[in-house]
Amino acid sequence: MKTFRCSCDNKQLLFFESSSCVSCQRVVGLDDAFNKVEPYDFDEESGCYFKARRPAARYQKCDNNADYNVCNGMVNLDDLVPEDGNDEVLCFACRFNETVPDLSIVEHIPLWKKMEAAKRRALYTLKALSLPLRNLRQDPENGLSFDFTTDRDVNDHFVSKLDYSESVFTGHDCGHITINLAEADDVARSQTKHAMNERYRTLLGHFRHELGHYYFDQLIVGSERKHALSKEYFGDDELDYQESLKKYYENKPADNWRDEFISEYATMHPYEDWAETWAHYMHIMDTLETAKNFSITGSITGDAADAEETDELNLPQDSKFFYSQTSITSVLDAWMEFSVILNSLNRSMGMNDAYPFVLSQPVREKISFIHHAIHNKFSLIKSSELGR
Ligand SMILES: [Zn+2]
Ligand SMILES: [Zn+2]
Ligand SMILES: [Zn+2]
Repeated sequence: MKTFRCSCDNKQLLFFESSSCVSCQRVVGLDDAFNKVEPYDFDEESGCYFKARRPAARYQKCDNNADYNVCNGMVNLDDLVPEDGNDEVLCFACRFNETVPDLSIVEHIPLWKKMEAAKRRALYTLKALSLPLRNLRQDPENGLSFDFTTDRDVNDHFVSKLDYSESVFTGHDCGHITINLAEADDVARSQTKHAMNERYRTLLGHFRHELGHYYFDQLIVGSERKHALSKEYFGDDELDYQESLKKYYENKPADNWRDEFISEYATMHPYEDWAETWAHYMHIMDTLETAKNFSITGSITGDAADAEETDELNLPQDSKFFYSQTSITSVLDAWMEFSVILNSLNRSMGMNDAYPFVLSQPVREKISFIHHAIHNKFSLIKSSELGR
């Protein structure tokens, strides 16, 4: 993720989540292009916002920004297509929402804000990679949508079941992604993390995992050739899912699961292996973009002679970071080096490793397959990686 600069005299640093500039106090936000946080001036007369460099275009805050401050979306009123019987003004990211949490319960609002922050970050990387991103209105058949809801009581950190609510399961179903609001509650999520013996559980991870399922359908399943190729890396995803799920919870995976899989959960079914690996690809791309943004330098050799000429972290093809020309080998090599730095920084703060995972050769090959699937460049997969 990049950071941004305000246009005011202080050139104030702005973050992806910023909604105002602390120097000039102007409203800042993201429009539908979804790639730049920038300031907006307010025009008293029209009651609209505008960008100084483009004064003719009128903007309004997204309703979820204006009413609940859960996003920093700005909507270009000239591009807004009114919908019959719906006068909502929603930003690019909020238009994917089918169900938002029950807002009559005020405690849900800060949790919803965390949901939106994670969703927006996940969407940003997808957009940067030029992946198809259509909501249900744009594509009723294959569009993407989100439900943020819960069947539990926020007041006891989602322990008690609500009598009136149907069960809510985090998951993906034909483009429809449900995330239980409990996952936005630090206490509830950490309890589940410990109960499931997981080393990493975050809201952003949930979004990226479920989005992985969506893109498996979008990029792979429709093509017999691509689907057959995917089975070479992830195994036969047509295996009975319920059966695999039952087996996974009955017998723990073999001790050497790390040789082939990125996480324990990935061993459950090829479908989950794809989603877990997809999520890691997104984590890696986002985090390396952040490192690049801050020009993080690194030398991890520990050798005094080498340390003298501390190299810039060798990030792949600067300006084409999200393009297919970027070599996945250089991305993964940079990641190996950077994840050590990342974990060491965390240890200095007395925290657990930010990236407690190992990328074995088979896992690197799976990530490489996903990289080529995203860019539809299967022909670039090295022949040595095939026929495993
Ligand atoms: Zn400013
Ligand atoms: Zn919004
Ligand atoms: Zn899954």
